Amino acid sequence: MKNPEGPGARGVEEAVRGFLEAVAALESDLRGLALPSTDPSSVPSEISGLKYERLRAVLAVRMQAFYAAYDGFVHAALAEEARPVTCSSGCAACCRHFVSSVEPFEIVALHEAIKDREDYPDLLFASHKNALAYEKILEAENPDDEAPDRALHRYFLKGRPCPFLAKDGSCGVYEARPMSCRMFFAESPARFCAGKAIVSPWNRNFQIELPDVAEEALARCSQHLAALEIPEDLFPGVLAANALFGQYS
Ligand code: SF4
Repeated sequence: MKNPEGPGARGVEEAVRGFLEAVAALESDLRGLALPSTDPSSVPSEISGLKYERLRAVLAVRMQAFYAAYDGFVHAALAEEARPVTCSSGCAACCRHFVSSVEPFEIVALHEAIKDREDYPDLLFASHKNALAYEKILEAENPDDEAPDRALHRYFLKGRPCPFLAKDGSCGVYEARPMSCRMFFAESPARFCAGKAIVSPWNRNFQIELPDVAEEALARCSQHLAALEIPEDLFPGVLAANALFGQYS
């Protein structure tokens, strides 16, 4: 679910600068936590209750501005490219993808947003089922460089809804949805975003890509959580966050 309406077009350069500032502020705070360093011989690390509380506090303070700056960049890029976005509220055709390339700090923040909800066990169970479904599809592929892409496509064709998709077709974690969900748009009718039509010539999905300098800043940011070994795929990532910080084994 995307909201193509933005706060108004700013220049892309200015928006990138704003995003870099938000990433730098987050990175500075994450660095200050001094989470355990990556040690290949160790099991996925646990962090002390105190450090977890400080991590929660950092994310609570920083993520709203982080996503506001990211959305500002996306809207500026859309305005600059003047692409006729056709996404509409409640469509959710793209919420059948296996959500990947998610920054670990985004996953921890999203987990924070759901872990006190009544349906938390259901969300975990659905995440577990989706993660297993993808794993099985990937295992059945020839293990070459293209295997993950083929597996992602075959997963999408199964039409499994994202566990966080609400019954009315809205995103149930809208404020905490990751950048991977915020960057994805269509400029063709919604029927070409679903099932096999996604590979038809009439499908015109596109993503708004960050410049390299921003990707590098994000990588530095995520490095501070590397020892937690949270996968960059949303559904297994949420399960890993539960194992570290949640209530269920
Ligand atoms: S988190 Fe799930 S429901 Fe929300 S936008 Fe992403 S794919 Fe859709």
